[in-house]
Amino acid sequence: MANQRFGPYLLQEKLGSGGMGSVYRAIHETTGQPVAVKLIAEQVADSERFRRRFLVEVETLKKLNHPNIVRLIGYGEEQGVLFYSMEVVDGLSLQQYLREHKRLDWRLTIDIAIDICAALKHAHDLGVIHRDLKPANLLLDDQRCIHLVDFGIAKLFGAGDHTAAGSVLGTADFMAPEQAGEGKITTRTDLYALGSVLYACLAGRAPFGGKSITTVIDALRRETPVALDLIVPETPEELTELIHQLLEKAPEKRPPTALVVGNRLRAMRAGLQAREAQTASDLGQPTQVESPTDSTDLEIDPAFVIPSERPTVAPQGRTASPGSDGDPLEATLDVTLDSAPGQVPTRPPTLQSAGPQPGTTQSSELPKTLDTSFRTVDEMDRGRGLITEEEPPEIQVVQLLSIGGLILVLAVMIGLSFFWLRTPTSDKLFESIEYNAAAGNYSALRRDVSNFTRAYPDDPRIPEIQSLTSGMDMEGTIRRLRLAGLKAGGIQRLSPLRQAFLEAAMLREQDPAGAVEKFSQWLAVFGHEGGTQDLETQRLQRLAISEMERLHESAQLQPVDTRAQALQEQMNWAAENLPAEELKEFYRGLILLYENKAWAEGLIREAKEHLNGLLNGAAS
Ligand code: ADP
Ligand code: MG
Repeated sequence: MANQRFGPYLLQEKLGSGGMGSVYRAIHETTGQPVAVKLIAEQVADSERFRRRFLVEVETLKKLNHPNIVRLIGYGEEQGVLFYSMEVVDGLSLQQYLREHKRLDWRLTIDIAIDICAALKHAHDLGVIHRDLKPANLLLDDQRCIHLVDFGIAKLFGAGDHTAAGSVLGTADFMAPEQAGEGKITTRTDLYALGSVLYACLAGRAPFGGKSITTVIDALRRETPVALDLIVPETPEELTELIHQLLEKAPEKRPPTALVVGNRLRAMRAGLQAREAQTASDLGQPTQVESPTDSTDLEIDPAFVIPSERPTVAPQGRTASPGSDGDPLEATLDVTLDSAPGQVPTRPPTLQSAGPQPGTTQSSELPKTLDTSFRTVDEMDRGRGLITEEEPPEIQVVQLLSIGGLILVLAVMIGLSFFWLRTPTSDKLFESIEYNAAAGNYSALRRDVSNFTRAYPDDPRIPEIQSLTSGMDMEGTIRRLRLAGLKAGGIQRLSPLRQAFLEAAMLREQDPAGAVEKFSQWLAVFGHEGGTQDLETQRLQRLAISEMERLHESAQLQPVDTRAQALQEQMNWAAENLPAEELKEFYRGLILLYENKAWAEGLIREAKEHLNGLLNGAAS
């Protein structure tokens, strides 16, 4: 295909291919404008009905105009092949990126999520649903900004509102349950897919990834994805929680709009950055301070917000405000067919320009290609009216001054903090650890502990604080497993592996020796399956081992009979002080609580005798 002509374009190398056809880098022969051209596979495009839908869809997509959405430039037909041209993004798709890096840091994941939400909000406001949000349709430029591609295209290929499961699309991994079944496709369908994409960024695979399409569809209906914090425990809790909400099977349980999700993510990013900056400065590390507007601004509806001008992707693409004085590409397209909007362009071509504006340059250098049609997307159609007004110059001056002021204040603040803040003493950091442990600030605690270990590797308190985080780790795991059990309709519905782990874990407070025994049985069964284990199993194994070690140690520190001793004292006190009715209750409770504990055997026997005595005494 390379070097072939499609409309006004000369194809260059292939950028990739998917279920709907192939994408090539191409260049406009007269203007030199680089674009991406998507050729639609002939077997797919080979019907009148499809052509009609293609044109209708393109009409919708023309309206999208957003820095995080790949701009549609034009569309046409060459020798029977339908194609459309779009902005080309220099960089990688998120799919390629994930293939190379396996996983993304949660910070980058949040940035990406915010970009996606901005794009989705824009499209949803215009009534366009993506329907096929997945890593292959998310292009990352060299500034790590996201550009969504293939908006609404999935609709073209599905029968009606539903996409025939995987028949045309390469993967079902990211689709929502309602796309696999009879449910209605709504904007929240895209929010589910967003959840899948973010899950994949963090975990390295989609929620039900790595299986055949039919198993995925089955899992979509019935299974809950493995809790993210079992796979990547370092992820901030608020982020995992949001992702699991996006992955709710019932659309109404998901967050309502992309705007809401975007705002939550922004607030999260600001909070987490502040937390990180705090620890970094506590440790005397140079802090990355973002401009204040960058981390705290919440997106505001309605649409008269001016979209932030990100560095553009295609060099000539968006440098000027689009359409203000005519895109060079649009101005010189000449192999254009005269066709009414909404109709299939007819062949053969005429030389009469159907370009958007009268007076469009006519170039005579191009060879007249037969069987060719091409139309550009009219800039005026893009629904851009809301955002084109230039600000008056005075406002810009005031803004510049205030930005200058802000930068100055910021610089002074950074300077001051460098001056004042030294590496915190180990005591100060330890204090923060104690505080976070007590308050249950899980992620802050982990971070403090890792900073402490790094800065003071020889401190005698290291084992103590490390056991703190492993305890927290275990608690988080227990919480997630119980939640998964709850969702599955009972702990007994969990897989044997998870169920047995949970049972062992829940024992550890009451009966550490029993817990150690259960963990060792668990490890005997699930502990050595070679390379076939999934990430969750591996993590549970690590946890089980470290928990057993911890329990061994604490059992040595606190011998079993101190508990029996304490209980004995409690019983003595009760027998002397409680009135008969309360004493009966006391014995009943005690028996219920400690009946199965080996160390309490003697005491329980004693309690039962006392209780019987009391009951018989009352009867006689
Ligand atoms: P799919 O999205 O199903 O994988 P596509 O045919 O839509 O298949 O795209 C194939 C690949 O081409 C994408 O994954 C991406 O890497 C690349 N691609 C698509 N559009 C563009 C574009 N506008 N700029 C750069 N690369 C693109
Ligand atoms: Mg695609």
